[in-house]
Amino acid sequence: MLTPETFEDELVRRCGRTYRLRRAVRNGAWLVEQKVRPGLDYPGHTDQIIRVRDGYRLVLDLGLRDWQPCPTCHLRLDLPVGERAEVECGYCHLRGERTRVISGYFPLSEATLQYLERWHPRRGAEINAEIDRINAGVARDARAYRLNTAEALAADHWRQVAGIPMVGYTKAGSPHAYGA
Ligand SMILES: [Zn+2]
Repeated sequence: MLTPETFEDELVRRCGRTYRLRRAVRNGAWLVEQKVRPGLDYPGHTDQIIRVRDGYRLVLDLGLRDWQPCPTCHLRLDLPVGERAEVECGYCHLRGERTRVISGYFPLSEATLQYLERWHPRRGAEINAEIDRINAGVARDARAYRLNTAEALAADHWRQVAGIPMVGYTKAGSPHAYGA
């Protein structure tokens, strides 16, 4: 098991600095969230409102434990660990009922990091490398730089959401407006 600090460090290294680990207000479970838009001033203190206010989306609820009460019979329902899957309650099944939940438990572990990484392949390293290049002021070849980052920009406008300064672009921020 990793500590929350080491887990978040690895998360950011592999998936990108737009990611964060936060404890849910609702039940104290760990949540993996990603910055996707500017924050909004909004009152309230639920997990959803915190995300709206900070400009984040929910990527994965890691869950509290590897079981939950069945929503029908309230007996223990064992959850898959390290993946989300459909689980059917055996006791309900014996009684001729079908109770199914889609759920999973993700401990702060290497397996969970790999699960997250599978859905965000190579993006973290690319995004972090771009941020480092910009911060170091070595984005000299604007044309090559544009080509390298075109995919990332098209995907989620990470530059704006991550609050990264624009380098070598016009004030309007249009890559096409830059004199190549
Ligand atoms: Zn049941």
